[in-house]
Amino acid sequence: MIHLKTEEEIQIIKESALILGKAHGEIAKLVKPGVKTSVLDKVAEEFIRDHGGVPSFKNYNGSFPASLCISVNEVVVHGFPGNYELREKDVVAIDCGVYYKGFHSDSAYTYPLEGVDEKTLLLLERTYESLFKGIEQAKAGNRMGDVSHAIQSYVESFGYGVVRELVGHGVGKNLHEDPEVPNYGKRGKGVKLVAGMVFAIEPMINMGTKNVVQERDGWTIRTADRKPSAHFEHMVAVREDKAEVLTTHKYIEENYSFKWRNRSR
Ligand code: MG
Ligand code: MG
Repeated sequence: MIHLKTEEEIQIIKESALILGKAHGEIAKLVKPGVKTSVLDKVAEEFIRDHGGVPSFKNYNGSFPASLCISVNEVVVHGFPGNYELREKDVVAIDCGVYYKGFHSDSAYTYPLEGVDEKTLLLLERTYESLFKGIEQAKAGNRMGDVSHAIQSYVESFGYGVVRELVGHGVGKNLHEDPEVPNYGKRGKGVKLVAGMVFAIEPMINMGTKNVVQERDGWTIRTADRKPSAHFEHMVAVREDKAEVLTTHKYIEENYSFKWRNRSR
């Protein structure tokens, strides 16, 4: 069942998303070679709690151990923070969620570390662009397949693999709600989009095969061919004439020292 949000609820989600955006900004200050991923997790959790929120991911399903998913290189999503120290040339996807005044927010960003090769940088750039191709389609009257198709057709034109097993999702009082937001699909198919829907669009795009495997920890998802993967996520509210982006990467782009993108969104 899809829960449409009132204007008041969307405003609360934006407050939640602002804490989230600023937490991402605090993380961005620290992303560099030598930093332990557990340190990033600790900083995020403290920032969220200091601002009256609760980390949405911590104890998710009674088992996720951290406030961040940190997914390095061939890890697609759901990696655990831990003793790993970031290295030059890594690509590091950081996903975070905040629960505030009864509503969740959810967004992700993949950082290239300095020295990353041009081919991998292009994967990130194009995955980021595909997120906005999807966002452009998230307006009332369209179908979810229009969002999905826009992402898929763009990234597949470069030969990349679109992960099938994991998809975007509605967000609200629950972190994961209907509708599903696949990164693959057919134009004109799927759920009809109406004003008041709020969902996360989150392309997970692989350099090589679309196939993924789950590690024995029950969470970590990596590419089957161990080539790198990228993940960017924004939440949107469907409006009559356009999608309104509720989350922000502004604080990441202000604070991350490696200016790898020319344009800011
Ligand atoms: Mg999500
Ligand atoms: Mg997320």
